[in-house]
Amino acid sequence: MKKTEIITRLAPTPSGYLHRGNFYNFLLNWLFARQRGGKVFLRLDDLDSDRAKPEFVEAIFKDLEALGLDWDIGPSGPDDFYRKWSQKHRTDRYVELIKTLSDKGFTYVCNCSRKSLAEQGFSGDYPGICRSKGLVFQEDVSAVRFNRSAFGVDSGDPVVLRKEGISAYHIGSICDDIDYGITHVFRGNDLKYSTQIQKEIALAAEIVAFDKIQFHHHELLLDTEGQKLSKSGGNAARNQPDSLITEFARWMGYSVPEGATLKIQELMDFPLSII
Ligand SMILES: [Zn+2]
Repeated sequence: MKKTEIITRLAPTPSGYLHRGNFYNFLLNWLFARQRGGKVFLRLDDLDSDRAKPEFVEAIFKDLEALGLDWDIGPSGPDDFYRKWSQKHRTDRYVELIKTLSDKGFTYVCNCSRKSLAEQGFSGDYPGICRSKGLVFQEDVSAVRFNRSAFGVDSGDPVVLRKEGISAYHIGSICDDIDYGITHVFRGNDLKYSTQIQKEIALAAEIVAFDKIQFHHHELLLDTEGQKLSKSGGNAARNQPDSLITEFARWMGYSVPEGATLKIQELMDFPLSII
């Protein structure tokens, strides 16, 4: 029997500089594949065009190179990314999934804005108020939401098609994970909810392949005050890649002698204890 090849992915979002937590996550995905003779896919989540910026795209490539993280599938650099790999080239594919969901009755039109929801006293998860309104889609006014009621959920229906006509993150992520044959995804605990939503969407659309992807969630790297990292880690990756790799090893529970630094190759036999 042919053994399925392992494929993991690095999925940075070019809407800001990456922080140490992002790099640790990439190292984990990369190591898991490399230790098993698998492949690595690099995907830049750039559907959110308002926030994706060229300088951040460029920084991603520089940072990955400095860390010694390579990949087998994906853009070779910024130019190749814009030419062939931007998620914007895959709009038709994403719309196809949204259409499948709609055909199966899992979507509805929502005309709420953040402001109108706030005025009605709603905050946090979307309360599902347009679910049964039967609204007709209007360009630049309407969004399309995925209806979670079939899964026994009353709120938090995610937008799948934004008002600007752009497919939302979950749709791009699901399609890309399937189309590029991803087998394992390691992501932070903060994305557990996203994984749940994506599984529901895939189930609703009857995408059997998505069920075969193994999702693992790991503890987040916290700052010295115990808060989740959100800001850029400065130029940690580019200026001190070895110290970042050493920190990663310690985070994984590996005892590294004081003052020693590790190179990425030295992690090849290293047990990935947190997964
Ligand atoms: Zn609504």
